[in-house]
Amino acid sequence: MNASVKATEVHARPSATFDAKLAETEALLRQAATDFQPLTQASSLGAEDVVITHLIHALTLDIPVFVLDTGALHPETLALLERTLQTSRVPIHIYRPAQEAVVQFVAREGADAMYRSIALRKACCGIRKMEPLGRALHGKKAWITGLRREQSHARADVPLIDTAEASLAPASGSPSAGLTKFNPLANWTWGDVWHYIATRNVDYNPLHDRFYPSIGCAPCTRAISLGEDFRAGRWWWEDEAAKECGLHVKNTEVA
Ligand code: SF4
Repeated sequence: MNASVKATEVHARPSATFDAKLAETEALLRQAATDFQPLTQASSLGAEDVVITHLIHALTLDIPVFVLDTGALHPETLALLERTLQTSRVPIHIYRPAQEAVVQFVAREGADAMYRSIALRKACCGIRKMEPLGRALHGKKAWITGLRREQSHARADVPLIDTAEASLAPASGSPSAGLTKFNPLANWTWGDVWHYIATRNVDYNPLHDRFYPSIGCAPCTRAISLGEDFRAGRWWWEDEAAKECGLHVKNTEVA
């Protein structure tokens, strides 16, 4: 893809039922804000997440946002975070990994440990993502994510309201144990997401203009080619089945 082509021009193609989906999403966010306080939105600053934050702002809902700054994000993501902090009226909280744990892990395993084994990749995700996620979700009743069914086979059954972990005890080890998870864009297509961004002039990560549909840490994210799966650019050296960082594991996997 030509680097000068905007993702908004390429992808903004609303589905026929876009207006109904948007109304459903707005109703769900209002319900979450009313019935599930305290709650928070998890944002990676990807396309879906900037849409949700924009909706929270537009609907003037009392829902703060958190971002996990893993210490390995792209400069483009950090620049978007900075712009968001300066312009957003929605509170944005940043959670970072424990510096000592990162330093020790890198000293012991090397900066490229994630490529050597799934266990080492998950250990890195554990330090840089899961531990800060636990702090971000501590004391919350619910959280909001940008998961969509279309994103991958593993997410094909994502419900609008996921209660799979709501009954889990904190001792299960999952940072989201006991929480209800709202996935208000579960039914949206990629075209719907970009239609919203284009028509509302939402600020977004310019990596999307360079064919990065899913954006995570810099060492573990690459652009995808035409015809590749949506999440093919995440942990591309691993089998499809291993490709979640732990943030969105299913109840059975946690157990
Ligand atoms: S995505 Fe990669 S760099 Fe980021 S925490 Fe996981 S293994 Fe580490």
